[in-house]
Amino acid sequence: MASMLQPQIILLKEGTDTAQGKGQLISNINACTAVADAVRTTLGPRGMDKLVHDEKGNTTISNDGATIMNLLDIVHPGAKILSDIARSQDSEVGDGTTTVVLLAAEFLKEAKPFVEDGVHPHSLIRSYRTASSMALKKIEELAVSIEGKSLEEKKQLLSKCAATTLSSKLIGGEKEFFASMVVDAVIAIGNDDRLNLIGIKKVPGGTMRDSFLVKGVAFKKTFSYAGFEQQPKKFLSPKILLLNIELELKSEKENAEIRLSDPLQYQSIVDAEWNIIYDKLDKCVKSGAKIVLSRLAIGDLATQYFADRDIFCAGRVAEEDLKRVAAATGAAVQTTVNNIIDEVLGSCEVFEERQVGNERFNIFSGCPSGQTATIVLRGGADQFIEEAERSLHDAIMIVRRALKNSTVVPGGGAIDMEISKYLRQHARTIAGKSQLFINAYAKALEVIPRQLCDNAGFDATDVLNKLRQKHASGEGPNYGVDINTGGIADSFANFVWEPAVVKINAINAATEAACLILSVDETVKNPKSESAQGEAAASAMAGRGGPAMRGRGGRGMRRR
Ligand code: ADP
Ligand code: MG
Repeated sequence: MASMLQPQIILLKEGTDTAQGKGQLISNINACTAVADAVRTTLGPRGMDKLVHDEKGNTTISNDGATIMNLLDIVHPGAKILSDIARSQDSEVGDGTTTVVLLAAEFLKEAKPFVEDGVHPHSLIRSYRTASSMALKKIEELAVSIEGKSLEEKKQLLSKCAATTLSSKLIGGEKEFFASMVVDAVIAIGNDDRLNLIGIKKVPGGTMRDSFLVKGVAFKKTFSYAGFEQQPKKFLSPKILLLNIELELKSEKENAEIRLSDPLQYQSIVDAEWNIIYDKLDKCVKSGAKIVLSRLAIGDLATQYFADRDIFCAGRVAEEDLKRVAAATGAAVQTTVNNIIDEVLGSCEVFEERQVGNERFNIFSGCPSGQTATIVLRGGADQFIEEAERSLHDAIMIVRRALKNSTVVPGGGAIDMEISKYLRQHARTIAGKSQLFINAYAKALEVIPRQLCDNAGFDATDVLNKLRQKHASGEGPNYGVDINTGGIADSFANFVWEPAVVKINAINAATEAACLILSVDETVKNPKSESAQGEAAASAMAGRGGPAMRGRGGRGMRRR
């Protein structure tokens, strides 16, 4: 009773919403599980796709964890962490985005009964961290290096990795076709870190198989004026001039005030304007370039002028395309036409304008520096090509990672099962509660093979039992789910390979996220942000109310 009489201590502003303790932690865990459930079915070669459409009517069909998480627009503060790790996995490694979300949620799910039983989260966190660092060490041990192989062999290994990434995507049916294309593209740009040197151009229509790789640059024909049709459309080893200036007849009198005393002088001003542009064009022609590209407009006069001299020109070329042409052909973008020396001109073996579907493309191939590649993607629906582009991006990232770190691990859940077994064995050697926690961590790792089975319609319990037995016997450390038969198979022998960095990053990020969520025991909602939200809602209401009110007023007026 005495305690009731004590004055209440007010610490936070009125209206502050706090949730704390075990209940809060459990609710965060539940939120994360709910998020993982949203992407669960997309994992693996038999995973399903998600169609997300927003209020603007944009539809996206995707299998990529990061893309889906982005589109989901999660508002739960705890669950947001999962979308963050998916995004960071996407930018770090490019693949394994579903994996990372599933792992994090599974670590939490396994921790939940302990939390409910009153285990202090920090005991769990400590054990999880130990387990994670042991797992990472084990992966590094198990990873197979592809260093020291010949280029041909390397190419084959890399395309296996790319094929594994692509097998879970919409374009999985043509994975070999695209995998070798991706590997060629990545090898073409060499060690350059600039990802945008690989361009992906999307041309709706045709079939996937009509997609092709240009070892060089390709871009859609830009807007052109009359006279363009008379220009030649194919050159062998032409010189290329890149400009960042307008080649148009400008009305110079708009830029300056000109006073005339004699009407006859007017003609001289008009002549001067023409002379300026002719002078510019003449300098371009004299440079010896056969192809003139500009970031800015090339007008009708210039187009005709070039056509008469058998020169090809294109204006309003997108900046990124121009940069890639520059990188590929060795040309430097000019901001003036004075003193164009030979060194600033680029060259390539073949330039041609070619029809692709119902678009015309300017294609530069056989470029001297060779450090660019362009994939021209074909396919039916827009959404399909968009998803194909995202999938290729994943594959490109994977190949680049594999090329850099040059270690691979068996996929299909094989590496996950092997680490799980290793951790279970380790758990048996230690005493105390942490034995249980490390076991929980080990069990959580099995979510990958289990989900692969579930998504393919296999009996997950059956397959997992076989896998556990195989791994425990020590005979098949590389055995994973066989997606074709519903049994188990040697993932290495089946060429289901993943760069080790995908797994390393995924386990690292997922453990960190799980520990982060476990260490939160209180959420405080600032009343200020709530009232700001309230205001926004109120103004939205007013906005909706406004026209309605006016509408009624209007009717009233008419009646009168
Ligand atoms: P993520 O977004 O995590 O990359 P994916 O949908 O791409 O998710 O699925 C990747 C998982 O599918 C990996 O664990 C990989 O080992 C597995 N996988 C890919 N191809 C095969 C295959 N042919 N057989 C078995 N498992 C595969
Ligand atoms: Mg993937």
